[in-house]
Amino acid sequence: MGKEAILYEKLPEEKVRCTACARYCEIGKNQIGLCGIRGNTDGRLELFVYGKVIAGNVDPIEKKPVVHYRPGSKVFSIATTGCNWLCKYCQNYDISQRRKVEGVDMTPEQVVQTTLDHGADGIAYTYNQPSIFIEFARDCGVIARKRGLYNVFVSNGYDTPETVKMMEEFLDCITVDFKGSAEPNFTRKYIGVPDPKPIFDTLTEIHDKTKIHVEITDLIVPEVGDDLSYAKKLCKFVYDEFGSDMPIHFLRFHPDYKMMEFPSTPVKTLEKHHKIAKDVGLNYAYLGNVPGHPLEHTYCPECNNIVINRFGFAIKEWNLDEKNQCINCKNRIPITGRLAKNYKADRFQFVV
Ligand code: SF4
Ligand SMILES: [Zn+2]
Repeated sequence: MGKEAILYEKLPEEKVRCTACARYCEIGKNQIGLCGIRGNTDGRLELFVYGKVIAGNVDPIEKKPVVHYRPGSKVFSIATTGCNWLCKYCQNYDISQRRKVEGVDMTPEQVVQTTLDHGADGIAYTYNQPSIFIEFARDCGVIARKRGLYNVFVSNGYDTPETVKMMEEFLDCITVDFKGSAEPNFTRKYIGVPDPKPIFDTLTEIHDKTKIHVEITDLIVPEVGDDLSYAKKLCKFVYDEFGSDMPIHFLRFHPDYKMMEFPSTPVKTLEKHHKIAKDVGLNYAYLGNVPGHPLEHTYCPECNNIVINRFGFAIKEWNLDEKNQCINCKNRIPITGRLAKNYKADRFQFVV
C-alpha cells in the first residue's frame, strides 16, 4: 500500500529528516531509513508498510507485559516488518530485521473489525517497534477508540517528542522495554544504539504531557546486560519520575537469534534486580518469563496480602474489592479497570 508519512521534515536537495524515532535519519532522494520501512520517494517520506500487517495474534494483555491496566483482557497484537533497533537476541528477528515490505493488506477499519470479531478488548502494536509505523497505528487506534477498544504500544522507548504528541491522539497504554538496564556499552554492542538517553527523555515526555498508562520492563541479559549499578540507576529514575506505584518488570532472557551461546538469565540474578527495585521504593516489581515464581503476583504494599495471584500470563486469584482495594486491609491498589468480565484463566498458555 504505502502512504506519505506525517512525522518528517523536508530538507534542501529533496532530502528528508524522519522524526518518528530518535535516530532522526536524514534520507537522500530514493534512499531508505535504518528501519528499512520508511524511505524518501522523490523528496517525500513514505511509510512503505502502511496497511501491511506481518503478524496478528490474540494475546492476554499480561503477555505484553502489562499487569496494572485492564487485567485479564485480550488484545489483538499486530506488527509490520522492520525495526529501528538491531537487537542481537531479538525473539522476533524474522519480522523485525526483515527489511522487506511484506504482510497481509489490511486497512485500519479491517484491523479494528478483526479485533472485534475475535472478541478482543484492544489492539497491541508490538513484535517490532511501533513508532516506526505510527501513522498506521494512529489511523487504526483512532477508529478503535470510537468502537470501544483500547490501544497499547510495546515500545523500546527510542522515540521523539513528535511521536509522543501523536501517541496522545490514540494511545491508552505503553510498556517501555529497557534492555540490560540501558547500560551504554550493552546498548551500543548488542542493540546498535549509541546512547540510551532518548528512552529516558521519552518517558519524561509521556509522563509530563500525556495521560497514557505506563509500565516499565527491563530485559536482564546474563553476563553482559545484568549490571546492578545500572539497574539501580534505572529504578531510581523510575521512582523519581513516576513515584512508588510504577510497575516494573524484570524479564528473563532466553537465547535467540545471534546470541544462542548465552544461557538463560539465572533466577537469582532476577531476584537481585527485584530487591534493588524494592529497596529504591518501588511497590510493584515483578519477574517475567519465570512461570510459577512468587514474584509474579501483586502484593499489597500495606499488609503483604497477595491481591492478584498469577501463573505466567494467567490470573489465578483476584483479591480486590469493587474499588480495587485489598480485601484484607482496604488499601487501594493502582490498577486501571477491574478483572475482565467472564475471565477464564485456562485459555492462556505461558512461556518457559
Ligand atoms: S523511524 Fe526509521 S527512518 Fe525514521 S528515524 Fe527511525 S530508523 Fe530512521
Ligand atoms: Zn492489604
